[in-house]
Amino acid sequence: MSPTKTIGILGGGQLAKMLATAAADLGFNVNIYCPDTNCPAAQVANKIVFGNYDDKENLVAFAKNVDVLTYEFENIDIKALEELELFVNIRPSVKALKISQDRLTEKSYLNSLGIKTPQFYRIDEVSEIEKLFTKLKKPILIKTRRLGYDGKGQILVKTLDDINNHFLSKKLFPSIAEEVISFDRELSVIIVRNKEGNIKTFEPGENVHKSGILVTTTLPSSTSEVLKNDAVAIARKIVVNLDYIGVMGVEFFLKESKLYVNEIAPRVHNSGHWTMDGSYSSQFQQHIRAIMDLPLLSTERHSDIIMYNLIGQVTSNLANNELAKVYVYGKKDSRPGRKMGHINLIKKKGSQPPL
Ligand code: AMP
Repeated sequence: MSPTKTIGILGGGQLAKMLATAAADLGFNVNIYCPDTNCPAAQVANKIVFGNYDDKENLVAFAKNVDVLTYEFENIDIKALEELELFVNIRPSVKALKISQDRLTEKSYLNSLGIKTPQFYRIDEVSEIEKLFTKLKKPILIKTRRLGYDGKGQILVKTLDDINNHFLSKKLFPSIAEEVISFDRELSVIIVRNKEGNIKTFEPGENVHKSGILVTTTLPSSTSEVLKNDAVAIARKIVVNLDYIGVMGVEFFLKESKLYVNEIAPRVHNSGHWTMDGSYSSQFQQHIRAIMDLPLLSTERHSDIIMYNLIGQVTSNLANNELAKVYVYGKKDSRPGRKMGHINLIKKKGSQPPL
């Protein structure tokens, strides 16, 4: 018998908690690296190491004690990871993380593969926002290149006054300006690839966001099979090009039968939480299997399902439904806009969803 392998996860939030649970089901040890002593993953992991994400010394010590290192979020110091990469397998690769950390490199990379994204422009000075807005004469969305998530770091500019109000008195972080897509719907593909190059994709889910935060993911989407297949083909192109190992989430805008990639996430993704109860395997099981060189499982969907995020609260009337699976992340403080849990509601055949 080989000794039990240990997976290291950078980050201790809900994604790490659900990854750690899937890893434990397969008999792996899980060590978590996280700055927060009360992190959700602490409820299920073997060991927690407290430290900051730019503390190289602490990160090296952590990584020396694991067999494979993975991560649950993008904002980790690349220089530190490049050092760890010399002695530990980091999956997904540092290259994939580096591309997706910065909206400018991410979108440039996608375009270089011939994949359509919203039109974007590099912004380093407030005067460039003004110039661009005056030239385009239509609303633009200013997004910080780094550290933005759940709509954070995004300002919609509809008038010159918006620029004055939001940017004139503040330091401008390196940003991009994006055309605003009046999309018909948003979709996402959760895809997994292993070292041998085997790929599995979950059926594209349909997402609804409010104020930049994911509220629901619904399966099946009423999008045509042709467009669903196109979205899957785009996701495949990305993971093959990156020689990717693990789960990736690819978010799309769909407008007049055209697909635009909004974002790629080199990790398990909120819009893939439905897989825990709607599919023969979950995205968390698949990620652990891919990074530990285990064969991938079936990604077939067995039920119609809606995933509802619990935002800013851990209760919902939906929880009383006998087909509701409730996941509470165990965060100590609830704040408006904070993801506290989610509910997967399996839809009985012929029933209406309680939207
Ligand atoms: P992001 O943080 O870039 O994933 O954006 C969060 C959400 O904001 C997206 O899921 C969309 O609902 C909305 N959004 C972001 N970028 C655009 C865009 N260029 N046009 C329209 N809506 C957008």
